[in-house]
Amino acid sequence: MKTIVLGGGVIGVATAFYLRQQGCEVTLIEREPDVALATSFGNAGVIAPGYVTPWAAPGMPAKILKYLFKPASPLIFRPTFDPAQWRWIARWLRECDLERFRVNKQRMQRIAYYSRECLHEFRSHHPFDYGRSQGYLQLFRSEYDAELAQPALAVLRDAGIAYREVSAAQCVDIEPGLRWARVTPLSGIHLPDDEAGDCARFTRELRAICERNGVRFRFDTRVTSLDVQGGAVRGVRVQSESGGEQGGANVGANAGGRSGETVPADSVVVALGVDSAALLAPLGVKVPLYPVKGYSATLPVIDDEKAPRAALMDESLKTAITRFGNNLRVAGTAELGNRQATLREQALQTLMKVLGDWFPHAAAPRSAHFWVGRRPMTPDGAPLLGPSGIDNVWLNLGHGSTGWAMSMGSARVVADLVTQRKPEIDLDGLTLARYGK
Ligand SMILES: Cc1cc2nc3c(=O)[nH]c(=O)nc-3n(C[C@H](O)[C@H](O)[C@H](O)COP(=O)(O)OP(=O)(O)OC[C@H]3O[C@@H](n4cnc5c(N)ncnc54)[C@H](O)[C@@H]3O)c2cc1C
Repeated sequence: MKTIVLGGGVIGVATAFYLRQQGCEVTLIEREPDVALATSFGNAGVIAPGYVTPWAAPGMPAKILKYLFKPASPLIFRPTFDPAQWRWIARWLRECDLERFRVNKQRMQRIAYYSRECLHEFRSHHPFDYGRSQGYLQLFRSEYDAELAQPALAVLRDAGIAYREVSAAQCVDIEPGLRWARVTPLSGIHLPDDEAGDCARFTRELRAICERNGVRFRFDTRVTSLDVQGGAVRGVRVQSESGGEQGGANVGANAGGRSGETVPADSVVVALGVDSAALLAPLGVKVPLYPVKGYSATLPVIDDEKAPRAALMDESLKTAITRFGNNLRVAGTAELGNRQATLREQALQTLMKVLGDWFPHAAAPRSAHFWVGRRPMTPDGAPLLGPSGIDNVWLNLGHGSTGWAMSMGSARVVADLVTQRKPEIDLDGLTLARYGK
C-alpha cells in the first residue's frame, strides 16, 4: 500500500517508522530540509506520562488572570480579532471543569503510557543516545501552586502511578544542584518512572533508521492540498520549496513558476502539527487546533555539580529545566494570539529567571541559544488520532504540549488503523468523533 506521511516532526517520522514496519511503501513529505525543524526541535524533552495534564484544568482561568499582570509570567495573551482564537478559548474554558479535567487527563495518560511502552520496546531494538535521563521533579514555590496540583495528584493516585510528595530538603537530595538555588521550594512531587530526552536528536536518528528500512523522504517540498475524489483520497498535491523541478508521477501545473505535482497515494496520514487545520479545512474537516507558542533556551553546562541531573518543572512558572548530556534546556511559556514564530523578550527573560533561581551557576546566560515553537493544541489537551471522515485520510495531530511523550504510541496506533489492525489501546476520546464529527 502506497502511504504518504505529511510532516517530518516527531509525530510524522514515528508514523513513517511503524507504517514501514507494517509493510507499507512509505514516503514522508516535509517542507523543511530535514526532520524536526519545527515544534519538535527545541522542546523541553520531558516524557512524563504520569504528569501529562490538560492545560484546561480547574483553577486555571483564575491562575491565568493572576499571571497576565505579572512581569515574570508563564502566560502571554494577545487578544486578536481572529474568531478561531475566541472559539478555541470558549471550548477551552468549558474543559476547565473538574469532571472534564479528569476525563481528559485519563485520555491523555492512556496514550502517553502506551507511548512510553512503545518507546521502550523500540529502544530495546534500536539503542542509541539521545540525551536520556530518568526521573522528574516538580517544584512548587507557593501553597497556592501546591494546592492547584491536587486534582492532578488525585488522578495519579487513582491510576496507581508512582509518585512521592517531597519536602524542600528531599528535593535537594534528588537534585543536589539545588543546593546552590537562590530560592527555596515549598515542596515538590517526584515521579521516578518519568524520563526525558532530546526529541530532535531522537527524530533525526529515527529518520536514519527509517531510511535504512526503505522509507523515502522528500524534503523542501510543501504540501498544498489533498486530491480527494468521490470521498476518497487519490494523492497529495505538492510544490517544491526550492522552486526546482520535482521528479515523480503526474508532474505538471505552473509552467515557468514553482512546479506543482500530484503524488499518488492509497493512504495519507496528516501530521503537519499546527498547519494541519489549514490543509484539512477546505475538505470540510474541522480540527479545533490553535497554535500556542512556547520558548526555550539551550545552554552548555559549565559546572556539572551545580547543574540538574534530570528533568524538573517549576510548577509555579510552568517552566521546565532538562539535562541533555552536556546541555541544559529551559523551556516554557504559553503565548496565545500571535501566530508568527518571533522571539519575545518577556518570555526569554522568564526562562532565564527560572534557570537563575534554581541553578544559577550551572550555565552562562550569554551562551543561551533561544528558540520559539508552536504547540498544536486542542482545547481539551488530547490529540486527534485516526479517521478524518475522508476515506484513507488519517489524522495524527493535536499533541499540544506533550507530543514527544505521546509520539511513539500515537504513531503505532495510527499505523495499526491504516493497515487495518486493531490498535492495542482503546481510542475512545482520542479521535475526531469527540468533537461530534
Ligand atoms: C516550548 C515547548 C516545550 C515543549 N515541551 C515538551 C515536552 O517536554 N514534552 C513533550 O512531550 N512535548 C513537548 N512539547 C510539545 C511537542 O514539541 C509537540 O507536541 C511536538 O513536537 C509536535 O510534533 P509534530 O510532529 O506534531 O509537529 P512538528 O514538529 O511541528 O512537525 C510538523 C511538520 O510539518 C511540517 N509542515 C507543516 N506544514 C507543511 C506543509 N504544508 N508541507 C510540508 N510540510 C509541512 C513542518 O515543517 C514540521 O516539520 C513542547 C513544545 C514547546 C513549544
